[in-house]
Amino acid sequence: MKNQEQQWIELDGSTGEGGGQILRTALALSMCTGQPFVLRNIRARRAKPGLMRQHLTCVLAAQEVCDAQVQGAELNASTLHFEPGAVQAGDYRFSVGSAGSCTLVLQTVWPALMQAAAPSTVLLSGGTHNPMAPPAHFLQRSYMPLLARLGAHCTLTLRRMGFYPAGGGEVEVTIAPAGALQPFDLLARGERQEAYAECLAPALPRNVAHRELEAVGQAMGWAQEQLRQPVVRANEGPGNALMLTLAHEHVTEVFTEFGSKGISAEEVATRVVQQARHYLASTAALGPYLADQWALPLALAVRHSGQAAAYTCTELTPHAHSNMGVIQQFLPLRFDTQAAEGGWLVRCLPGA
Ligand code: ATP
Repeated sequence: MKNQEQQWIELDGSTGEGGGQILRTALALSMCTGQPFVLRNIRARRAKPGLMRQHLTCVLAAQEVCDAQVQGAELNASTLHFEPGAVQAGDYRFSVGSAGSCTLVLQTVWPALMQAAAPSTVLLSGGTHNPMAPPAHFLQRSYMPLLARLGAHCTLTLRRMGFYPAGGGEVEVTIAPAGALQPFDLLARGERQEAYAECLAPALPRNVAHRELEAVGQAMGWAQEQLRQPVVRANEGPGNALMLTLAHEHVTEVFTEFGSKGISAEEVATRVVQQARHYLASTAALGPYLADQWALPLALAVRHSGQAAAYTCTELTPHAHSNMGVIQQFLPLRFDTQAAEGGWLVRCLPGA
């Protein structure tokens, strides 16, 4: 083992929301900090616990990026030992091998590669628009502009969309070395700049997209030019994602719902409209998904700079709380959360 002198961080995967995020955050921060960890009871609160294919791909991707020594990298494994080596920038290809989310694999290796001394490219294949994962459009419009404000610049090209269950999507990401990350406060979303809906429905009857967009238009009071049907290729489907993009001065949110058999087009529209209305009813900067995903890059910037930073969000999910818990085990900082008007105020404070 490489890091005899480093203390192993002990993590229990049954704590908090008990899912895959504990694993991905641990992998990301182990690579960034060089600290080894052992994770027991992996995804213990899920119906099928242990490492599923998507999680195993994250482990193998992390292992390749930092030449880690790993025990337990097997399907269904419930314990993982991960001892990182040095992070290597380079050209990587990772395939989830099913419709498993490739964006979650990307988020695992992203923090380490953006802190490397040289640029990297990462080609990922699998699902690009999956329920329970950040859709590629969300990463492009919501997450990456915030990373760029920290000083971490990347581009993401969606080469081919992939939906559950067929998968087969592909994204290519270039990651520039970030240097010293600079944290910033994100307390308000700013003025509304743009709002529109898009329906992706490859290999589905045309009226699906039409009905979903009409229903969104009526519920939100949006004009025809705000209801869009981007060009899709039939071989990218079958699949259906209905996305509402709300661009504000300081942050862009993308809310997504997925169509599936047995759910009407109107129901898909109702669900995504509910997400958007919930966000718009508050003045907080971030919605529930950005609120949990923003914690990690912000914490890295706080650690680098030694400066505190804060954000407001509409909701703090169990996901966000567990994520912060794992981050606090790796980095000498703490998250302070308090209810604020229209949601929550989260402060990330240097020092344990
Ligand atoms: P499991 O919990 O079964 O282990 P998992 O590993 O696939 O599942 P989760 O632990 O549920 O995933 O984490 C999912 C991540 O995807 C979270 O960071 C969450 O913010 C993000 N996410 C889920 N849905 C969306 C969405 N619609 N838009 C943006 N991000 C999303």
